[in-house]
Amino acid sequence: MGNELEKESTDLVTDSTKAHSVPHPSHSAVRKDDGEVTRSQHIHRIVDFDCPLIESQHDPNDLARELSRILKKRDISLTSAQRTLLKDYKTEKNMYYIFTEPTIPEEAKILAYSSLFNFLIFQGQLTKRVTIELNPKPSEQWDGETSEENGYAMITLWSQDHIRDLNVRLVRYLGITLQELTNAFLAIYGCVECRRNPKWQGEADHGEAWKDMMVAIQEAVEDHSFLDLDLKLGGLGAPAEGSRPGGILPSDALSR
Ligand SMILES: [Zn+2]
Repeated sequence: MGNELEKESTDLVTDSTKAHSVPHPSHSAVRKDDGEVTRSQHIHRIVDFDCPLIESQHDPNDLARELSRILKKRDISLTSAQRTLLKDYKTEKNMYYIFTEPTIPEEAKILAYSSLFNFLIFQGQLTKRVTIELNPKPSEQWDGETSEENGYAMITLWSQDHIRDLNVRLVRYLGITLQELTNAFLAIYGCVECRRNPKWQGEADHGEAWKDMMVAIQEAVEDHSFLDLDLKLGGLGAPAEGSRPGGILPSDALSR
């Protein structure tokens, strides 16, 4: 099943063999120039979504803040390509009119939506950076997992076959996928030194930067004039500490 996914998801997926041939810039090798800002002893490059981000060289808080800012003013900040994509999606003309289409395999639906999330939520920054694999086995521990190496991420979605209703199950998969894409985004572009700080990505990948991003993403995804998807993100697995009961969002996330 994983191979099928890789073949079909040309927008997001990269050949995993290439991942190992790309040199990984070391944190200490970064030279200070106009594109960088210094915070503590770390050197972080400025986050500008008009340019490709650079792997491992951004403050996770900057990534979260800037992406949230773009998503919050989504009504005016969309590019013409994004507007066209959203219009097609809203008018049910293209591949995204697939939610309830029974002839399209579940994994193809997940990949189609992943591509949509990449372009409309993550501003295309995950293109050819992420491989998604649907594991036919369930996991007792996780719904999804993300690993990252050399600027490329592998997402594993563990089977949700215990959910019999196909639409409910797809909602579940898409919610997990969106969370894992958020993990992948921070893992690929976040400063390695900063990632483990609980104020940023945190040891469990659900630190404050991640939570802040999920707040903005959830709002954008549920917006009727935007993606209009109720992915029930509030009910997905996240650390209990600092979260609202039954939800992923920290109690103070919206006020920060
Ligand atoms: Zn850092």
